[in-house]
Formats: sequence, C-alpha cells, structure tokens
Amino acid sequence: MSATQDKKLTDIVIDDLMISSEKVAHVQLHNPLEHALLILVKSGYSAVPVLDSSFKLKGTIGKTPILNAVLGLERFETEKLSDMRVDEAMNTDVPSLSRSDSFMDGLKTVINYPFVCVADEDNHFDGILTRRAILKQLKRNYYTVEHEHE
Ligand code: AMP
Repeated sequence: MSATQDKKLTDIVIDDLMISSEKVAHVQLHNPLEHALLILVKSGYSAVPVLDSSFKLKGTIGKTPILNAVLGLERFETEKLSDMRVDEAMNTDVPSLSRSDSFMDGLKTVINYPFVCVADEDNHFDGILTRRAILKQLKRNYYTVEHEHE
C-alpha cells in the first residue's frame, strides 16, 4: 500500500511524493552540451537537473536551450555541442522545494513547471517532484472523498 493511501492532502508533504535523487537522471555543470543532449534524448525527458561536483542543485537544462545555444544564422552548428558546457546554456532561475514542504506548496509550484527540484537547506539535491505525482495524488484523494459521500 502506498504511503499516501490514507492520508489527507493537508497531511501529505513533498517527501511522500518525490522521486529520490538516486532515481533521477542529472548532468553536471561542466559536462559538454553533447553529453546533456544525449542524456535528454536517450531518457526521453524534456529537462533534467544540473548539479555541481558536490551534488548541489544549480539549475535545470532542457533540449530547447541546448538547440538555441548552438543555433547559428543558417544552421545548427552542431560542432559547438562538444565545445560548449552545460553552464553556458542551463536555466538557473528555477524554483525548488524542500522535503517538508506541504502538498499545496508542491501544487502551486508545478502549475508552471512539469517538475520541480527538491533540495535541503544547503542546496544539496534530494530529488524531484513531478506534476504527474501531484495530479495522481489529487485524483486519488478526489475519489476517496467521493466514496466517503456515497
Ligand atoms: P513525467 O511527469 O514523468 O512526465 O515527468 C515530467 C518531467 O520531469 C520529465 O520530462 C523530466 O523533465 C522530469 N523527470 C521525470 N522523471 C525523471 C527522472 N527519473 N530523472 C530525470 N528527470 C525526470
């Protein structure tokens, strides 16, 4: 049985719903863009977290910023993929949550993002919360409440 099966939404915290760091694909600041693009294409994810060498959260990187970074006047200058690094194309302006934040904190944040990173007070990466996990939990609780009124 899932940990959130019998919990009210107000009792659920991000820790109950997040994907933990060891299951999350990520890239590092100094990886070449080619490596990041390979991870993104092979995994099928639109974006992944960017970490530094001590596993601290630095931002996210997606396929579109990578393609924009190598876009020349008339063509994709794909030779740049091996010269440019992740920190030259990543998005650093990303929100983050902590494990103890509430379900509602998570819901508000994923309105604008398909996933949000979870980090501790020192910015060490703990995992991600996906919009999918929030929606699944909302659906589950909706049916539980419906059932209680039958
Ligand atoms: P999903 O809700 O599974 O469609 O995931 C939404 C987005 O969250 C994906 O496109 C990725 O950007 C990110 N994501 C989900 N799961 C993972 C994972 N295991 N590793 C890295 N990124 C992930």
